Amino acid sequence: MNAPLGGVTAGPYVVELRGVRKVYGGGVEALRGVDLAVERGELAAIVGPSGSGKSTLLHLVGTLDRPTSGTVRIAGHDVDGLSDRELSALRARDLGFVFQQFHLAPGVSALDNVADGLLYTGTPRRARRERAAAALERVGLGHRLDHRPNQLSGGEQQRVAVARAVAGDPPLLLADEPTGNLDSASGVEVLEILRGLHASGTTIAIITHDADIAEWCPRRVRMRDGRVVDDSGTGSGARPPAPILKGAAR
Ligand code: ADP
Repeated sequence: MNAPLGGVTAGPYVVELRGVRKVYGGGVEALRGVDLAVERGELAAIVGPSGSGKSTLLHLVGTLDRPTSGTVRIAGHDVDGLSDRELSALRARDLGFVFQQFHLAPGVSALDNVADGLLYTGTPRRARRERAAAALERVGLGHRLDHRPNQLSGGEQQRVAVARAVAGDPPLLLADEPTGNLDSASGVEVLEILRGLHASGTTIAIITHDADIAEWCPRRVRMRDGRVVDDSGTGSGARPPAPILKGAAR
């Protein structure tokens, strides 16, 4: 391959799935032909009952797994054409992840937790720490740089996780039930941060089973039995999300 991450095409889509199927060992068909395109700058909720294929979809979009058939293009890269090493590079550069569990390293300061997330981008140490401090500032934790996870509230820990996910300015942020472990006030804080990131141009996909969060997102993609059964559509992201969540996040 000539280009380090070959197969790049410029285009409006950060995520492009065409006819994606995923069959797990044992024959479970988790995705049964999914077409989904997410444009730059959208804030989309992926919703659906347990077992509908949301996590599988997130894993494929996050390039943590490959489809059984169909094509997955992320930030213009055809995942099928990339080696595992190239996929790691793509993840480090183009994707940020936030999970329900915060996945912070214990005993390590907030600053280092975020800075270490940039290790695989090849950024020099000093620049990593500067970017980490700026990202923590962005999530309102500029005064907590030296705190370790056990010295932070759940909401603060999730904000550190968001800072880690966006410190490298990835074009796409994937969040899997990001408020699932938080009390409602902390959940609203995290959503406010996501709203701010969306306003500054980050594309965000949130997996959620929370109807209030889904309603708050400008776009909703509804899944059932491995298929997209309803989609408010690309471009519906033009409506900015309301500043304050109507119901409290659960
Ligand atoms: P959701 O996130 O909507 O709950 P999942 O993507 O986790 O849905 O699961 C979709 C289907 O795929 C379910 O039937 C689930 O049991 C199955 N599944 C998920 N992961 C695996 C796996 N690693 N091996 C086998 N089956 C799996």
